[in-house]
Amino acid sequence: KTKVRKAMPWFGMDIGGTLTKLVYFEPKDIATDELDQEARILRNIRRYLTKNSAYGKTGHRDTHLQLDNIEIRGRTGSLHFIRFPTSEMGNFLNLAKAKGMAQLVTTVCATGGGAFKFENNFKEEVNMKLAKFDELDTLIKGILFAEIQNPTECYYFENASDINKSEKKAFDFSQPYPFILVNVGSGVSVLAVYGPDNFRRISGTSLGGGTFLGLCCLLTGCNTFEEAIQLATRGDHTKVDKLVRDIYGGDYDRFGLNGDLVAASFGQMNLKEKRTSVTKEDLANATLVTITNNIGSIARMCASNEKIDKVVFVGNFLRVNPISMKLLAYAMDYWSKGTLKALFLEHEGYFGALGCLLQFNG
Ligand code: ADP
Repeated sequence: KTKVRKAMPWFGMDIGGTLTKLVYFEPKDIATDELDQEARILRNIRRYLTKNSAYGKTGHRDTHLQLDNIEIRGRTGSLHFIRFPTSEMGNFLNLAKAKGMAQLVTTVCATGGGAFKFENNFKEEVNMKLAKFDELDTLIKGILFAEIQNPTECYYFENASDINKSEKKAFDFSQPYPFILVNVGSGVSVLAVYGPDNFRRISGTSLGGGTFLGLCCLLTGCNTFEEAIQLATRGDHTKVDKLVRDIYGGDYDRFGLNGDLVAASFGQMNLKEKRTSVTKEDLANATLVTITNNIGSIARMCASNEKIDKVVFVGNFLRVNPISMKLLAYAMDYWSKGTLKALFLEHEGYFGALGCLLQFNG
C-alpha cells in the first residue's frame, strides 16, 4: 500500500528578535523502497540536521528536548529542537545553499517577525518561499500539541511560598482552559486563552528578556545570556535595590508590606558609596529580579482582570533560569494569597516553531 507522501523535509521556523528556533521532524518509519528513492540531498539534510556538531559555534541542538515516536500526518518520527542567534541568519542561508536544501525545499513555514524581515533574503539568496504564519496562532498550536504528546510537558513549583524549598512538580494540563499565557522573549506578550482558536492578546511590555540581557551586558560587561544568568546566580539584589525595610526600618504594617520586599528597584544606586560596594553579580541579580518581578506583576493583574487562575509562562527568557521561574511562582502565590498558579512548559521557547511545523501542508 502506498501512502500519499508529503515531500520531506518538514520543519517549522520561528525567527524571533533574538533567537531563531527550528523544529525538524525526522521520519523514522522510512520504508526500504522509500530509502532507495530518497534523494541523496534529502539524506544529506537529515544527517546534517540531526548531527550535534552541525550548527557551528552559535547554533545548538537541544538534545534534552528531543521527542521520539511522534506521529504527524501519518508518519512516525522524532522532533528535533534547534536554535541559533537571529543575527546569524546570513550564515544559515549560506548553509542552506551549500547543503542543497534549496533544491529540495521550495517553501519554508516560518513565523515570528523575521518571517517578514527576511522574506526577501530567503527568496533572493536561496530561492525559498516563506509560508508565513502568525506567531501567536502557532504559539498556541505548539503548546497544545506538546501537551498532548509529552506527558511531562507541564510543571509547577511546589512550596512556591518558600523559594528555598520550592521544587519542580509535574502538572496535569490536559484541561487547560482558560489560561493566561505569558510569552517572555525579547519582549513580552500576554494572552488570555479560552480555547484552541479563541484567544486575545491582552497586554505586553517592552521590558523583557532582551532588556534583561541588554542591561546586564551594559552593567556587568558580560557577553552572553548564560554568563548573565551565572552572574545573577551568585549575586544579591538587596545590595542594589531599596527595600521596604531600608525605608521603614522594618515592615510597613498598615498595608501588610514585608520589610524584605523591594520598594524601589536599583533604589540604592544613587549613592556613591553603595555603588562602589556592589559587585557585578549583585547588579546581574538585581537586573534579573527587576525584570522578572515586573513581568510577574503584569501577569497577575491580567489574570485578575480576566478572572483566570492559571498563568503559563513560556519563552527563552526562562531557559536555564530557575531564579526567574521560582520568583514568578512565588510572586503569583504571594500576591494572590495562593489563588493563582504559575505553570511552566519544558519546550519553553519552541512552541512557535513547533506550531509552524504542524501548519505545514506542502
Ligand atoms: P525572540 O523570539 O524574541 O527571540 P525568545 O523566546 O527566543 O524570543 O527569547 C529571547 C530571550 O531569551 C533573550 O532576550 C534572552 O533573554 C533569552 N535567552 C535565552 N537563551 C539565550 C541565548 N542563548 N542567546 C540569547 N538570548 C537567550
